[in-house]
Amino acid sequence: MAELTHFYQTFQPTHYDVYLDIDRAAKTITGKTTITGSAQTSAIAIHQKDLAVAAVQADGQAVPFTIDAAAEAIRIELAKVGQTTLTIEYTAPLTDSMMGIYPSYYEVAGVKKQIIGTQFETTAARQAFPCVDEPEAKATFDLAIKFDERPGETILANMPENRVADGVHYFDTTVRMSTYLVAFAFGELQSKITTTKSGVKVGVFGTKAHQANELDFALDIAKRSIEFYEDFYQTPYPLPHSWQLALPDFSAGAMENWGLVTYREAYLLLDPDNTALDTKQRVATVIAHELAHQWFGDLVTMKWWDDLWLNESFANMMEYVATDALEPDWHIWESFQTSEAAAALQRDATDGVQSVHVQVEDPAEIDALFDSAIVYAKGARMLVMARALVGDDALRAGLKNYFAAHQFGNATGADLWAALGAAAQLDVGAIMNSWLEQPGYPVVTAAVVDGQLTLTQQQFFVGEGQEVGRQWQIPLNSNYAAAPAIFKDKTVTLGNYTELRAANGKPFRLNVGNESHFIVKYDQTLLADILANVTDLTAIDQLQLLQDLRLLAESGQISYATVVPLLPRFANSHSKVVNEALYQVAGNLKKFVVPDSAEEKSLKAFFDQLSAEQVARLGWVAQANESNDDQLTRPYVLNAALYAENKATITAAHELFTTNRDHLAALSAAVRVFVLTNEVKHFGSAELFTELLQAYRQSADASYKADICAALTSTPDAALIAQLIEKFEDATTIKPQDLRAWFRGVLANHDGQQAAWDWIRNEWGWLEATVGGDMEFTTYITVIAGIFRTPARLAEFKAFFEPKINTPGLTREITMDIKVIASRVDLIAQEQAAVNTAVAEVIK
Ligand SMILES: [Zn+2]
Repeated sequence: MAELTHFYQTFQPTHYDVYLDIDRAAKTITGKTTITGSAQTSAIAIHQKDLAVAAVQADGQAVPFTIDAAAEAIRIELAKVGQTTLTIEYTAPLTDSMMGIYPSYYEVAGVKKQIIGTQFETTAARQAFPCVDEPEAKATFDLAIKFDERPGETILANMPENRVADGVHYFDTTVRMSTYLVAFAFGELQSKITTTKSGVKVGVFGTKAHQANELDFALDIAKRSIEFYEDFYQTPYPLPHSWQLALPDFSAGAMENWGLVTYREAYLLLDPDNTALDTKQRVATVIAHELAHQWFGDLVTMKWWDDLWLNESFANMMEYVATDALEPDWHIWESFQTSEAAAALQRDATDGVQSVHVQVEDPAEIDALFDSAIVYAKGARMLVMARALVGDDALRAGLKNYFAAHQFGNATGADLWAALGAAAQLDVGAIMNSWLEQPGYPVVTAAVVDGQLTLTQQQFFVGEGQEVGRQWQIPLNSNYAAAPAIFKDKTVTLGNYTELRAANGKPFRLNVGNESHFIVKYDQTLLADILANVTDLTAIDQLQLLQDLRLLAESGQISYATVVPLLPRFANSHSKVVNEALYQVAGNLKKFVVPDSAEEKSLKAFFDQLSAEQVARLGWVAQANESNDDQLTRPYVLNAALYAENKATITAAHELFTTNRDHLAALSAAVRVFVLTNEVKHFGSAELFTELLQAYRQSADASYKADICAALTSTPDAALIAQLIEKFEDATTIKPQDLRAWFRGVLANHDGQQAAWDWIRNEWGWLEATVGGDMEFTTYITVIAGIFRTPARLAEFKAFFEPKINTPGLTREITMDIKVIASRVDLIAQEQAAVNTAVAEVIK
């Protein structure tokens, strides 16, 4: 983009009349937009992308204009500055890009249907109608929409419909809001609707390809989330309704359009009678996330995209706060530790990673900002850290003031810190800035040096990293009072270790509860003390210990060979998070073995040893009234036993398959993926393959479809892999929104890797044309970097991606991913022999 001035500086809109006539059959949009606002200069710019503009009038008079495609602008010359009403007439194509106004495709009983929906964040409102498409340019909107309507169709928008005249649907005027939050959708929809205690109408909408009861879970969570937030924020929900709509084609996970939240079907609809608990938890947290945004993001919006983190980090924290309040038995904060914390610590350890707060101008770079491990996960950890510092009372009081001061307007990160700081009487901004403005995080080394307990902070890297002397203000959360609350210096001495140990009566620990964003490297004395008392630790603290050891081993600061013998002591934990962390470490050992080698056989024997007792305890079938932890642990141990090729486990899975041969979708969703994958791997045939692919095409159950994807991509059969790859570009089988999971599955399959890698290199142009406009695009590169581990693949990766390094939006991803693969290749070279020896020694 050539022109980096914010258009809001030239024209400040106050109200839009947006008229759209959408013809699905002809795939065209005809529009007329009237914008009332204030011209700051006579030469103004209004955003547009791919619009064929027929005429521009200012206050009823035709005015000269030019289309500046590079700047995505209509440049208009006005006769005067000040209050102006612009009228712009245009046409645009209706495209399948999952951005702007776009169709979603689905089938009901073999009949092809479509729903038209919208996705405007970050910069796609300009593809639907001309506008000042910047978050600060808030205005009110009157939507009027006509379409080639058939009986039985429903249309939804941010606000309620108030009348229909001559086939045009008119909606109530919106409150003052940003363009990226405008939304509408129409088609044949079913719905369930309820009302909150305060009178807000809450609805869930989906296509008629679903059973009606698939809407129930979401309706309950959505209603209770809004009630929770009205109480927590002490601020009423600002609109008359809150619609949740599942779209069959959707690029991101969900989108917080004000009053009309859109979701992937997988993140809204579920079969209440057969859905795994972790899937229910994911759906609940996604809904709670989007509804948190209705205030934080929608009512008060970031001033510019550099503060995108403010929206996403906050919503990412609140999804756990809300879900924990709605379903306390889930202990959802434990999942925060294994998902968000783990993702943030991994990604943030690579040199070159973005900071949470980043300067940004170019639209392509704005989309690249959605680095979920940083903007969502790390940012959420920052806010969890802030919450722990200020406490919940100050958090709520501060938020109430923040909403009151900035509602229907915009704010920056500094405004939030000011509000929270005032409520807590604490300079929150000073502490948080060291975390938000700097990339990376510290490892705190705790060691006994000359008898003194000493702490040192240094930036932590996995792979090559340039030490530039960064320091952080670290909330230490130690269990020894001698440690400072906030550790700002490079190094600190806490006193004589022997005396401290005796006085405290327990092993020295830092980051108790794992709420601060750093890892700890204990010296041998301190670590041995913790391990000797490991059963005294909470599940989260055990998980933290494993997670920190894994990261230290990934960085080469300690050897994986020293971690291997520690794993069996966690193997019989009844905690889901401990098992998840354990198998994450164990899974990381797989990179050290070559397929079909003696070392791989030893590693499999190790997995068998780790999982045997738990498999015997839990089995394949859930017991009545078993704990949530047991339900959630079962998949980890069964997966381990299957990797181990445990004969009894393979046979049990095969029997489950055979018994349920005629109704595979009805297999318990908690274990279905393992039953199907086991069958394809060990008992597969072309017939089974075809049957499952057919079931995939016909099913509307997202969780069953994901299981089939995992099973089919694990086939060892080269001919079937070739058939699968042919389907990658066939949207009637694999929707573009789901393609990454299929690609990843085949690439991670040793027998499919070459074919998948060849496909993406040959078809990069097609991929870019199909999903290139969308914020998930760069994650295809991330997926590859997550799998490759040999020098040959590293060389091929570089040969292919280095020439693309200057593509807007791809630069950071390619640069980081080369480091990610290179560090893995180096680690394997250095550690392979020692790790495999350690595994051989630990198996009985
Ligand atoms: Zn969000």
